[in-house]
Amino acid sequence: VIQIRDLHKAYGQLEVIKGVSLTAPRGHVISLIGSSGSGKSTLLRCCNLLEDSQQGDILFEGEPVKWRGQGVARVPADRAQVTRLRTNLSMVFQQFNLWSHMTVLQNVMEAPVQVLKRDPAKVEARARELLAKVGIGDKADNWPAQLSGGQQQRAAIARALCMEPKALLLDEPTSALDPELQKEVVRVIKDLAAEHRTMLLVTHDMRLAADVSDHVVFLHQGRIEEEGPPAQLFHAPRSERLRQFLSATM
Ligand code: ATP
Ligand code: MG
Repeated sequence: VIQIRDLHKAYGQLEVIKGVSLTAPRGHVISLIGSSGSGKSTLLRCCNLLEDSQQGDILFEGEPVKWRGQGVARVPADRAQVTRLRTNLSMVFQQFNLWSHMTVLQNVMEAPVQVLKRDPAKVEARARELLAKVGIGDKADNWPAQLSGGQQQRAAIARALCMEPKALLLDEPTSALDPELQKEVVRVIKDLAAEHRTMLLVTHDMRLAADVSDHVVFLHQGRIEEEGPPAQLFHAPRSERLRQFLSATM
């Protein structure tokens, strides 16, 4: 679904992504791990063009993103393509970012109705189904502030799913939660993985990465230091840096 080839990104003088290539095939879960500042969030945000990148290709379903300009001046050239890509790669953030002035149901319905212009009655039915699926069917008419953190994050996942995206991009979806609340969200992510949803998951939770991933990518200072199936990365790491990282986090 998503493919990145030799991507480079800098913030001013600071090179953050230094030639990363990555493929998320349909139905696969790819996890990104690495220490703070290694570029995980930036890479995820480059994938759905929330951040510009200066060099390299991004392909969505085999279709390369079209660019205008070069280097620091490079920007996506085709607005329609950007919209198509964004609506198909739904993002879930660490801070759930629900709209506080809308009920949970309205949050989930907003983009499909306003952006995709879908029939509100159909969207509502689907939204209620999704809320039930993530275990908060009874919270549809509550305000976000009336939900626990774990419930808010599950609402954010339902909202992302209601766009019927081709892939989910999740940036540390459990990090802002207490351990007890993390479990509810981990459960939902495991369910989605079991359904073979395509996901790109940034996580500090090595257990989660080991459980759900088809492929794990270890980033170090903007480069892929090591990647492979979870069994290899977690149980037979080759690089000394990955070994150190794992012994510090597991
Ligand atoms: P964490 O695990 O803490 O979330 P990360 O791997 O997601 O870290 P990024 O957020 O991608 O790391 O940041 C990579 C580097 O880019 C860091 O050095 C960070 O300081 C820098 N950076 C991130 N966002 C910006 C920005 N908007 N402007 C300038 N520098 C930035
Ligand atoms: Mg981050």
